[in-house]
Amino acid sequence: MVEIKVDVGKCTGCETCVDTCPVGVYEMKDGKSVAVNVEDCLVCRACEMQCPEGAIQVIE
Ligand code: SF4
Ligand code: SF4
Repeated sequence: MVEIKVDVGKCTGCETCVDTCPVGVYEMKDGKSVAVNVEDCLVCRACEMQCPEGAIQVIE
């Protein structure tokens, strides 16, 4: 079971996570990233590493 937390206070809406995730977990809503397809997450942690604001936590 994977949990993904996006800190909306840190997220600038740069869309890097949307472009980085290989399975399309993220969508933009009102200028912020939302993890909508968490069940598809591979726990590759690319989003965590690429987010320039450190706004993403992938928790197993
Ligand atoms: S990469 Fe980080 S700052 Fe950019 S949209 Fe995703 S969560 Fe927000
Ligand atoms: S850990 Fe990998 S598969 Fe999971 S949301 Fe981040 S980029 Fe996508």
